[in-house]
Amino acid sequence: MKKWTVALVAGAVLLTAAGCGNNNNGGSGGGSLPKTGVAIYKFDDTFMSGVRNSITKAAEGNVKVDIVDSQNSQPTQNDKVDLFITKKVKAMAINPVDRTAAGVIIDKAQRADIPVVFINREPLADDLAKWDKAFFVGAKAEESGTMEGEIVADYWKANPDADKNGDGVLQYVMLKGEPGHQDAELRTKFSVQAIEDAGIKVQKLAEDTAMWDRVKGQEKMAAFLGSHGDKIEAVLANNDDMALGAIEALKAAGYFKGDKKMPVVGVDATDPAMQALKDGTMLGTVLNDADNQGKATVMLMKALAAGETPTKENTGYDITDGKYVWIPYQKVTQESAK
Ligand code: BGC
Ligand code: CA
Repeated sequence: MKKWTVALVAGAVLLTAAGCGNNNNGGSGGGSLPKTGVAIYKFDDTFMSGVRNSITKAAEGNVKVDIVDSQNSQPTQNDKVDLFITKKVKAMAINPVDRTAAGVIIDKAQRADIPVVFINREPLADDLAKWDKAFFVGAKAEESGTMEGEIVADYWKANPDADKNGDGVLQYVMLKGEPGHQDAELRTKFSVQAIEDAGIKVQKLAEDTAMWDRVKGQEKMAAFLGSHGDKIEAVLANNDDMALGAIEALKAAGYFKGDKKMPVVGVDATDPAMQALKDGTMLGTVLNDADNQGKATVMLMKALAAGETPTKENTGYDITDGKYVWIPYQKVTQESAK
């Protein structure tokens, strides 16, 4: 009986402590944690939803965080930044709608002396250099492109029948993300370069932007199939959502049944992509580590809000050139997904 009472009291204490933690972390509650603001370019983006969840989790016990949706509009995002400044947040994290708008945001932040961490969409180096309290957390775009290309090259070498028309050239189509986004430009370039560096001749049959979007990926792939059909020997997509859209279009055209095969690669390693790898429809992807990108963003904001300079010691992440946290990519194949 006594033991039960002790356990119940201990449980109640834990519950109370947990309750306080939630309050501190919520938008409204008081508490001693520093107030921070995060603006995501749009909530309706699969990968950024992963980063957002990671930020919410990492914020617990570290910072109070207000996460807002910029609805894919730079003017809307600029208004959100103004609001954060009015609310006197101690640090901000911005996932720019248009990465070239970072300069304007840095000017606003500097005038209010509120440190700013950019995430996922990399500001131009000249903009970031304007202020020593401006940072970037992300991943090296070219690295993901190279890994994606290597997965295709390995497949091509291991499967001689992948060269459907037997001309010794890999005929591919490219689904691009948003033009101007460093990840779209560099993944497009470096994926193809990695295939060529492996000694494989390539021919681009078609390339179009599907704006990181699954439905658009499906539409564009259906159009590619309409004009090039069986001539297509590989599908390269700048992210998993577009690759998954392409897989839908390919399924509708009878692929992934019998001997109708198609290597499709993406980037991100989202949950649906991991499922497609297991199903054998997607050939490979590259882990874009949303978890660590979210954590690093929070740890930088925490250090900055305390008036400290971010270091490995106070954030747990290497800071390159006093400005950048680079989270490594990782190749994911059907084998490693098992
Ligand atoms: C991801 C995409 C995402 C984009 C948003 C990229 O790093 O791979 O899936 O749509 O960021 O900016
Ligand atoms: Ca060929």
